[in-house]
Amino acid sequence: MHKLLLSAYRFTTNNFAQIQQSKLCGCCHCVQIFPAEEIVGWTGLDMHNMDDPEAVAKQTAMCPKCGSEAVLGDKAGYPITMQFLGMMNEAWYQQTLIRTPKPKA
Ligand SMILES: [Zn+2]
Repeated sequence: MHKLLLSAYRFTTNNFAQIQQSKLCGCCHCVQIFPAEEIVGWTGLDMHNMDDPEAVAKQTAMCPKCGSEAVLGDKAGYPITMQFLGMMNEAWYQQTLIRTPKPKA
């Protein structure tokens, strides 16, 4: 399962093209599920590359609920469920996966 969480994480950045083809999206930060069309905020473009189609396709979605760059679209092939998003949240934001928990004092 850890492998799945690791591989899913890269789909939360530079995911403009993926989200355009997705119907349902979820946020790994606030663990909410919402339709793809709710996403209105993107990062990655500035005055220099806003006309560059490649840069446009590599924008990163911002969560409409919490503003985090932690959005996963169903097109990426991972389950967009509270359970999966909750596991992503634990792994990446509570860092149970990348850092071993501190021993209890
Ligand atoms: Zn969120």
